[in-house]
Amino acid sequence: MIFDTEQYLKSKYKGFYQNHFITVDNIEKREFGIGIFGKKIANRHLEFKNDYVFNDFLRREIPFYVSCSVAYYNKPAARPMQAKELTGSDFIFEFDADDLPTKCKDKHDLWFCANCNCYGTGRLETCPNCKGNTKIEDYICDECLEETKKQTKNLIDILINELGFKKEEISVSFSGHKGYHVKIKSEKVSKLTQEERNELIDYITKTGLSNKRIEYKYPYFNAEGEIRKSFTEFISKQKTKDLVEMGIIPGFALKFVKSKKDAVNTLEKRKVLISILGNDDKNKELWDKVIDSFLGDLKQGSKLSIDTSTSIDIFKIVRVPNTIHGGAALISKQIPLDTLDRFSPFVDAYPFNKNGNIKIYIEKLPQILIAGKPYGPYYKQLVELPENIALYLLAKGAADGVIL
Ligand SMILES: [Zn+2]
Ligand SMILES: [Zn+2]
Repeated sequence: MIFDTEQYLKSKYKGFYQNHFITVDNIEKREFGIGIFGKKIANRHLEFKNDYVFNDFLRREIPFYVSCSVAYYNKPAARPMQAKELTGSDFIFEFDADDLPTKCKDKHDLWFCANCNCYGTGRLETCPNCKGNTKIEDYICDECLEETKKQTKNLIDILINELGFKKEEISVSFSGHKGYHVKIKSEKVSKLTQEERNELIDYITKTGLSNKRIEYKYPYFNAEGEIRKSFTEFISKQKTKDLVEMGIIPGFALKFVKSKKDAVNTLEKRKVLISILGNDDKNKELWDKVIDSFLGDLKQGSKLSIDTSTSIDIFKIVRVPNTIHGGAALISKQIPLDTLDRFSPFVDAYPFNKNGNIKIYIEKLPQILIAGKPYGPYYKQLVELPENIALYLLAKGAADGVIL
């Protein structure tokens, strides 16, 4: 018997909500949004008095997506936004495999041209045949999810070890599809304005340092301890060819290398940059280039690609932990911090107990590596797959026609 994809997924999600009770902290103060098949947010400005009312709703409506505000309001359902009466907000960070340039994307993402029906692997934006715009179908695999997890762990490390947040103030969940969400729930952040949130992000990603943590007006240079130390180290390690790569002419680069020791000593003693070229304009130009390059290195070194707009948007609604992400058929599972290392989405975020095989029809799929096993490539064929993989492909729209 052949089932329609939407109906089939809905019946599965119904079973999940009937067997699970989802709790949300401070539920009565949050705004909710829900999505349907193919649309992440179809309706927002909803409120629920308590977890019971919320779970009744989930069992009755079976939404494909459930999101709630990071903010707390006196009147979560009121409109417009100002009428909700904001009282505070958690701080959220989103990490998404899409934002990381992992090599695996060339293997498992697909481009497709609706114009001339041609397609191929990778993320080609222009069709090589008709020069039209392509549509990208992206998948995830062990490699990009692992890279995303690494970023998540780096952030948690900074939050705890550099910024002094307590473990209990931080929660992490799988997004239900391509990444992880880290939430800080603390008095220390709840009243922060968007501007202050921006500053915290600047600190974490080491961006915006030029005007915030470094005071520089040639020849005066002052920076906070840790950054001053890395700047003097940066000066000391420069070689002529590094400086030439920054756009400094070889003659000047040579003079710079000869003056490195003097530059570091003077900087440490008097917080000024020495004159290397004997001409203020030329000196300033030289130091500008060195400092720019230093800042570039700092940003690179942070290696965190945070979706900044999400973090500073106080009014944002994000996936409710432990609900189903209907576009991937996985749970946006909350993960205890000390088990993050061994968390694997296709094992730990699979919503159902049994994992027998089901048959689905796949239009086209490149090879993807999931939980250590390769699947595909498939092209216009009927395939029998473990249910968690099959549901993922159905939810993503890569397959239809479920046959039991
Ligand atoms: Zn084309
Ligand atoms: Zn990948």
